[in-house]
Amino acid sequence: MVEIVRAGDWSVGTITEREGPQRRPHELFPGIDRAAASRVLEGFPNSSFAPATGRLFHTYQSFVVRAPGQTILIDTCVGDHKARPPHFNFPKQDWLDAFAAEGLSVEDIDVVINTHLHVDHVGWNTVLEDGRWVPTFPNAKYYFGQSEFEFWDGRARKGFDLPARILADSVNPVIEAGKAELVATNFRFNEHIWFEPAPGHTPGQFVVHVQAGAQKIVFATDAVHHPLQIAFPQFSTIFCEDKEQAARTRLDLLTAVADTDTILVPEHFAYPVAGRVVREGAGFGYVYL
Ligand SMILES: [Zn+2]
Repeated sequence: MVEIVRAGDWSVGTITEREGPQRRPHELFPGIDRAAASRVLEGFPNSSFAPATGRLFHTYQSFVVRAPGQTILIDTCVGDHKARPPHFNFPKQDWLDAFAAEGLSVEDIDVVINTHLHVDHVGWNTVLEDGRWVPTFPNAKYYFGQSEFEFWDGRARKGFDLPARILADSVNPVIEAGKAELVATNFRFNEHIWFEPAPGHTPGQFVVHVQAGAQKIVFATDAVHHPLQIAFPQFSTIFCEDKEQAARTRLDLLTAVADTDTILVPEHFAYPVAGRVVREGAGFGYVYL
């Protein structure tokens, strides 16, 4: 685990499951102007883009928020031993080991928040124990968006294979164990932590706001996938359910935090991940912490 934000008694650490170059800009963002994208990418740190192959970096990570008296895990990557497409089958023990390396055990996690129910955000919710899926974090309360759950449950009932698998091995076992809370996407957890609807990528996705003392932090999940979308907020990924809505959500989010002290923590950005959004001409730029 690597600390990416510290604010008074609060800290945010990242646990990376895997990262590396994946798709080319126009493969992730169909229709993007390749020349304009290349110009923007030249200004990015190496960890966002692999110039040799022309591929964008993609990081799978989770965030551990250490708040006074509470340890919160935001999203849980792909997980292990799950029947997934080949792309997601890779060795992942390091993800669990990262807790021990920090002096944390799975028992120490009080809260697990899943910002949406995509394959790369819910995987470590559960582990295989004697042939059964059980919650990885036995003392945690898990928070899922109610509308998000209903959307994917509907897909699963219509016979969509991957959503059915994800619910069966990573979500439903948590609900059946009595550890889940299905909440509205504007749920207010307490005075320090609240959710805000961020529809488009998925219908029930939410971002997580954290007020850490005087410091505001927004965990932007997949409302912003890659730094390229800071410069080109109008482009949604091929994975977004409603690309126009996703673009509106992204623009609203960037507009709200631009030129403020608020720290943005987008889930698939490479290290150092966290940064501040600034206005640049008609668009936006990003200043890593
Ligand atoms: Zn994702």
